[in-house]
Amino acid sequence: MRLSSVIAGLSAAAVAFQGVAYAVQGPAKSLLRPPGAQGEADFSARCIKCGKCMEACPYLALSPAPGDQGIAAGTPMVDARAQACRLCEDFPCVEACPTNALRGIEGRSDVRMGTAVIDEDLCIAFQGMRCEVCYRTCPLIDQAISIDYRLREGDAIHSLFAPVIDEEQCVGCGLCVERCVVDEPDVAIRIKTDAEHPRTGA
Ligand code: SF4
Ligand code: SF4
Ligand code: SF4
Repeated sequence: MRLSSVIAGLSAAAVAFQGVAYAVQGPAKSLLRPPGAQGEADFSARCIKCGKCMEACPYLALSPAPGDQGIAAGTPMVDARAQACRLCEDFPCVEACPTNALRGIEGRSDVRMGTAVIDEDLCIAFQGMRCEVCYRTCPLIDQAISIDYRLREGDAIHSLFAPVIDEEQCVGCGLCVERCVVDEPDVAIRIKTDAEHPRTGA
């Protein structure tokens, strides 16, 4: 048997093994992946933890998953509260990936990192204050997020300026999470992956 065939066979076996290991262990929690990841199982099977995407990101938005993430430890993730993805024009992280764990991104609308979800109990806009920080910061303003101006229920005087997410348009970059002004007891907007929060049209 030729050496190249042996190497190809070993590579395929390694990918298959990673897939099985993922199915058995999985990451301890759902991680926000870089642009171009095609679902957690596919991503886990392909990512070799080489770190090239992390090196390529000019905003240092990608970091290795911590050691408590089982087999996912060391794979790239976005901690949106610390540093969100900036949706670069040229997606250098995707370009840098040697295994196609990140792929299929021609433009921003191809990105599917997750969906922003607002906690109306924590968001101050739903308590009657005007904020709009998440709305103003979104790179897809008036597409992924808009402001719903309406009167407060049971209050004929005060209006609500409520941020509303369009699940089909939001790409899950996390900039709204990074900039949210609410911190206590928790941030008022989060990114949920499609596994946690399937899109209504999916
Ligand atoms: S698109 Fe740009 S900002 Fe976002 S993770 Fe990739 S390199 Fe970093
Ligand atoms: S460049 Fe690709 S294979 Fe390397 S760590 Fe990033 S996603 Fe994984
Ligand atoms: S995650 Fe937030 S900032 Fe990014 S597209 Fe969605 S609503 Fe806009």
